[in-house]
Order: sequence, then C-alpha cells, then structure tokens
Amino acid sequence: MSEEGPNTKGAPLLVAAHMREIEAQVRVCRLCKLSRTRTNAVPGEGDYRAEVMFIGEGPGYHEDRQGRPFVGNAGDFLNELLEIAGLSRPSVFITNVVKCRPPNNRDPEPDEIGACSGYLDRQIALINPRIIVTLGRFSMARFFPGERISQIHGMARVIDGRMCVAMYHPAAGLHQASLADIIRSDFRKLPLFIEQARKMLAPAVQPEDDGQEAVDNTEVQALVTEAPLQTSDTAEVEEAVQAQAKPPEAAQKKRGKREKSENDYKQLNFFDL
Ligand code: URA
Ligand code: SF4
Repeated sequence: MSEEGPNTKGAPLLVAAHMREIEAQVRVCRLCKLSRTRTNAVPGEGDYRAEVMFIGEGPGYHEDRQGRPFVGNAGDFLNELLEIAGLSRPSVFITNVVKCRPPNNRDPEPDEIGACSGYLDRQIALINPRIIVTLGRFSMARFFPGERISQIHGMARVIDGRMCVAMYHPAAGLHQASLADIIRSDFRKLPLFIEQARKMLAPAVQPEDDGQEAVDNTEVQALVTEAPLQTSDTAEVEEAVQAQAKPPEAAQKKRGKREKSENDYKQLNFFDL
C-alpha cells in the first residue's frame, strides 16, 4: 500500500494524532454506566492505516485488566485465525463495539452500544479500512441489521464503499467445538475477500490524480454492483455471481417488510467466494 500518498489515507500524522485523542477520551470516558465497573477502558489497537479492521463485542476480564483488546482465550483463538488468514496482528486494527467491559461479560446493552458508537464511528472514519470484519452478533448488527449470524457468517457485502465480512465471534468457537472449524474455514476465505476488495474498491483518489476526487461513493457503489467478480477460478466466479444474484432467504423475506430505497437494494449483494 502507498505510504504517504497525499490523497489515499489522509495525512498519517494527523490520523495518528486524532486516533490518540480518541484513545485518551475513551480511557476517561463516562458516557455510559460501564464506566462505573471497568478497570481499564479498551480503545483498540493496531495499525492506524490498516486495510483490515476487526470489530469485536466488548472487553472481557483480561482485556479489562490490561486495557488491550483480545488478549484472553478468545484473543489466542483470534491470533490463530489471523494467522490462518495470512494477517499479522500488528498490521490490522482491532477494536470493539463497546470499549468497557460489561460486568460478568454480559451482553452490551443498547444504551451502552449507542453511547459508545461515536468512538467507533471516528475510528472507522480515520483508519478508513477497505475491509471490516465483524466478530459476533453485536458488531454484525451494526453493519448487517436484521441478519442472522448463522446465515451470513463468512460472507461479505459492500457497504458504503467498504467490504464488510461477518464472522462468528472467536469465543463461540471456544464454547462450541463444532463451530471452531467453521470459523477457521471462514477465515481461510479472508485473503480472497481482501484480494476482491482491492480490485473492486480502488482508492477513491489515486496519488497521481493531484487531489481530484476521482470516484465518489455513488460511482463506487455502481462499480461494485456492476463489476464482475474476478477470481482466478471460474467455478468460484460462478458461485460468487450466483450468491450475488440470490441473497440469503432471510434477506429476501425481509424485502417485503418496508419500502427499500434503490441504494438499499444495491447493498443487498451478499457474496461468498
Ligand atoms: N471479546 C471481545 O469481543 N472483545 C475483546 O476484546 C475480547 C473478547
Ligand atoms: Fe464510554 Fe464506551 Fe466505556 Fe461507555 S463503554 S464508558 S461509552 S468508552
């Protein structure tokens, strides 16, 4: 990836300064009741220019103690999964939907997720990852509202010019041995999704374009819906195109429920590789 291309990722120093400011704010944040029971808030960590961002649910016991994401058992499994996907941990960015540990690892509540969402929004905007991988239901719900993890795990959809991939939470694989291999094989597909995202979602502005906004979001969307999926294997292409044409049943059923805008339909293109 280009290092300091003036127009691809913004000025890294400025991004880093803003990211550190968010981290400092999170560490002292009292916007929701989780602030009363946490030991340390966990803003997230990794490369501020990461191409791939992982979003989990919320800190657990060890994360709360250390102030770092995914450092307990689920973190060990995530490390294995990253390796399977050919990604080094320092090259990605890892964070959570809520930055403070819910007591006894209970589910985060809607008011807590809502209170915390501004931090995640800003982290996504600053890092501007091409690929977002959601880990578990709460992170999935933000990008794939109304979908079921059992239906869409290991699948991707382009949302607002990013490829979003829904994965089971690594902890699910620790609790249910049968899921562990499913999660591994979902992660094995990540390199293909990344390759695909690089082809489909070229940077909005090329460094040599001297500052011109070459592709706006509408054009990216059109490109994404029209572009044939390119993989080296034609069987894979067939399958991917079929998956694009046929969203999962859950998505189809929901279509009747409310009027969808044209953009909503464009975003219904789930695909698998
Ligand atoms: N589970 C999560 O969702 N996030 C962490 O950081 C650790 C465990
Ligand atoms: Fe603030 Fe988020 Fe922690 Fe709540 S969970 S106190 S909103 S940082």
